[in-house]
Amino acid sequence: MSNVLSNEKRGMRELGAEKKVGWNEVTHGVVLHSFEDDAADIALRKAEDRKYSEFSSYTATVASWRVIKPVYNRDICIDCQNCWVWCPDSSIISRDKQILGIDYDHCKGCGVCVEVCPTNPKSLLMFGEALSSDDAIAQWPVKEKKEK
Ligand code: SF4
Ligand code: SF4
Repeated sequence: MSNVLSNEKRGMRELGAEKKVGWNEVTHGVVLHSFEDDAADIALRKAEDRKYSEFSSYTATVASWRVIKPVYNRDICIDCQNCWVWCPDSSIISRDKQILGIDYDHCKGCGVCVEVCPTNPKSLLMFGEALSSDDAIAQWPVKEKKEK
């Protein structure tokens, strides 16, 4: 899968570098800002309305890291927002406290969202990358009964 969001010169402007440098060549003490403009109200702006800098992970997809992917099942979800809070890549899409699904451009397939989902069965489960979401939903487990 190609890296659709990043480019060859990513981050060079911020560093004042003439060529692309590795993480271990960045001058100590350099501050890498995630946003181009004032970030004071950033939590109130939708991800697609934020002006991300070239150093933000949002400007580069990590989707190619994934070998397994989370699939979301709307029928079981209680919109508790746990997955949204814990996802390290802000890849759970939530609007007005309702989960809409996964941002597969930025999800790296770590499975944290599945771990923190409290429903029974879980509303997010990991499946092979090649499996379609419809096929994943078709094989969703049923509710586990509590032992008496
Ligand atoms: S698998 Fe990891 S990166 Fe992907 S949505 Fe879940 S917590 Fe986020
Ligand atoms: S953690 Fe599970 S139940 Fe809670 S919002 Fe996410 S998918 Fe829905």
